[in-house]
Amino acid sequence: MTYELSDKIKNLKPYNAVTGDYKIRMDANESFINPGETLQEEFLSAVASIKFNRYPNPMATELCEGFARYYGIDPEMVVAGNGSDELISIIMGAFLRPGDKVMSYSPDFSMYQFYGNLYDKTNLVIDKKMDMILTAADVLDAVMEYKPAAVILSNPCSPTSLVMSREDILKIVENSNNLVIIDEAYMDFSDQSIIKVAEKYDNLILLKTCSKALGLAAIRLGFAVASKPIARALHAVRSPYNVNAITQEIGRVIFSHPDYIKKSIEEIKEARDQLYFGLLQLEPNKSIRRIIKPDTNFVFIELSNAEYVYKELKKYSIIVRQFGDFLRITTGTKEENEALIQAISKILV
Ligand SMILES: *Cc1c(COP(=O)(O)O)cnc(C)c1O
Repeated sequence: MTYELSDKIKNLKPYNAVTGDYKIRMDANESFINPGETLQEEFLSAVASIKFNRYPNPMATELCEGFARYYGIDPEMVVAGNGSDELISIIMGAFLRPGDKVMSYSPDFSMYQFYGNLYDKTNLVIDKKMDMILTAADVLDAVMEYKPAAVILSNPCSPTSLVMSREDILKIVENSNNLVIIDEAYMDFSDQSIIKVAEKYDNLILLKTCSKALGLAAIRLGFAVASKPIARALHAVRSPYNVNAITQEIGRVIFSHPDYIKKSIEEIKEARDQLYFGLLQLEPNKSIRRIIKPDTNFVFIELSNAEYVYKELKKYSIIVRQFGDFLRITTGTKEENEALIQAISKILV
């Protein structure tokens, strides 16, 4: 008997997550605040009340209500997923037909192209300009030219750390006859969300995650927000119990602490600013070409020797992400940021 893997998946490799043991992790845009340390007892007692022999609530009802309350929207617009990654996967797989054109940008979150490819879409990947700034006009011109079935982009963008204004995003949604997917994974660090008006648009899906600002990367929890017909369709195509009971409980607890969430976000933004201004102090060094002012929890910096600096940082047990001539550096605690800035200043002497 023989079974041959299809060409498409034969050479795929598992997602290249950092595995080494580094003292300072600034590579994955996680939060440096662990809510488990603060909310430990509440998490544990919520988990203790789970009926482990039963399937979880199929609609993640209380969790979605908590999310909706926190963001001030109608819970019927909310669909929970096993990370927003799962939601990107089911949108690509079920909402779009094989061969459909999916427009995305480079650099942007790499998983858009990954799932597009996996589900036999035609990936139209448009390079951003040198300044990395994307405007509504850029996107709408490309939409006119290529007529894609869907446009997907992150706002604020990872890895560029830049945000597009609410007005620009709405211009894109209002003036394109295709699905528009806006990934707001980092919007808690900025202020240009369109979540409050998402209900008005029948061609929009917003994505959110608990992995970044909320400090819950471990529980794998993301959300899609859309008008009710789209939300109903998302419920219909996802797998029946896609969000496990432990994740539902812990997510429910975190959204019952809006003040804690807001305080954590402020703390992360403060640390991010310290990192940004600390790096700016190094800017006279000629290896540093550009440091982008961030609207996220990380800083994107262009160097003439990014790969060298990336490798040298590992010797200090500091791990960041390298994208060609750029490094994407997630904010750590103030001490971690200080250690990174010290290390870079030594590496660049
Ligand atoms: C981290 C990230 C996600 C992934 O979120 P999960 O909910 O952890 O799957 C989605 N989009 C962007 C742009 C991200 O940076």
